[in-house]
Amino acid sequence: MESFVETRPLPPATGKSRDALRQQMINRVGNTPLLELSKIAPAISRVKIFAKAEWFNPGGSIKDRAALSMILEGERSGALQGDKVILDASSGNTGIAYAMIGVTLGYNVKLVLPENAGELFKKILQAYGTEVVFSDAQLGSDGAILKAREIYQASPERYFYPDQYNNPANWQAHYSGTGAEILHQTEGEVTHFVAGLGTSGTFMGVGRRLKEFNPDIQLIAVQPDSPFHGLEGLKHMDTAIVPGFYDPHLADLSLAISTEEAQAVVKRLAREEGLLVGLSSGAVVAAALRIARDVQEGAIVTIFADSAHKYFDQKFWQESRNRD
Ligand code: PMP
Repeated sequence: MESFVETRPLPPATGKSRDALRQQMINRVGNTPLLELSKIAPAISRVKIFAKAEWFNPGGSIKDRAALSMILEGERSGALQGDKVILDASSGNTGIAYAMIGVTLGYNVKLVLPENAGELFKKILQAYGTEVVFSDAQLGSDGAILKAREIYQASPERYFYPDQYNNPANWQAHYSGTGAEILHQTEGEVTHFVAGLGTSGTFMGVGRRLKEFNPDIQLIAVQPDSPFHGLEGLKHMDTAIVPGFYDPHLADLSLAISTEEAQAVVKRLAREEGLLVGLSSGAVVAAALRIARDVQEGAIVTIFADSAHKYFDQKFWQESRNRD
């Protein structure tokens, strides 16, 4: 019987060697869809807003790209070998990426996570069987960085410490991957790029790639508007430990977004576009909407770093305060 569903030829199943598993992981990370947000963009303007749907990555976030790049570079340089344990600080998504890749490639992983990290992040790490060390909640993601350094310095021979805040393989993943994909998917028509700053790897890598292609492309960096915020994955650079590869001069413009504004946009994206996205996605779309109001025409590209699923235990979904 003829099938109604058009099928693509499936690749043959791969063997179970580490090389085959590594190749399978490389094939699964990146090449995410670019979605057009057709309803939320201001109706009067001729500006289009697009977003990279990064939850399509196998670990559910953009951080799979950076984690895989740092692990592959560690293997290539020889820093990661034998029974070394992958150790790093993470506010959540990079940790999940290390955990997933660690299980796949056969490395143990030890993560330092702020004690007040989301419950659903912790459950995912538990599911992967990952060892987690909690750092002082009061010190936020900086507390996790300091604790990871301490653990590493006590016995450096035991660990591979990628140090996502200072490892160039982080931003390079976005230069060769995310940035190149955006140019390809927009056929070079992108006029603005908007991204949040965590390690700043996404912004630095994509930003450099786009500026090299066309220096007129405007780069907009998004930060939380205060040191204590609910924008999971983003950093308030003025008060935080600044990542080693962060260059504040790359951005043409910096915008500060409040947690409440991001939450309101997250709800709009669910109800108007049918897209369930995380808080940093709400923040970057809030920023993209400000840009869209100010320019006549163009193609704004932004990043949906992850989906809403790890944030469903947060109260704002039930609050009417920021329903619209
Ligand atoms: N959004 C989310 C949800 C994240 O987890 C992260 C990573 N911390 C970012 C944005 C920022 O990405 P980057 O580290 O590349 O700046």
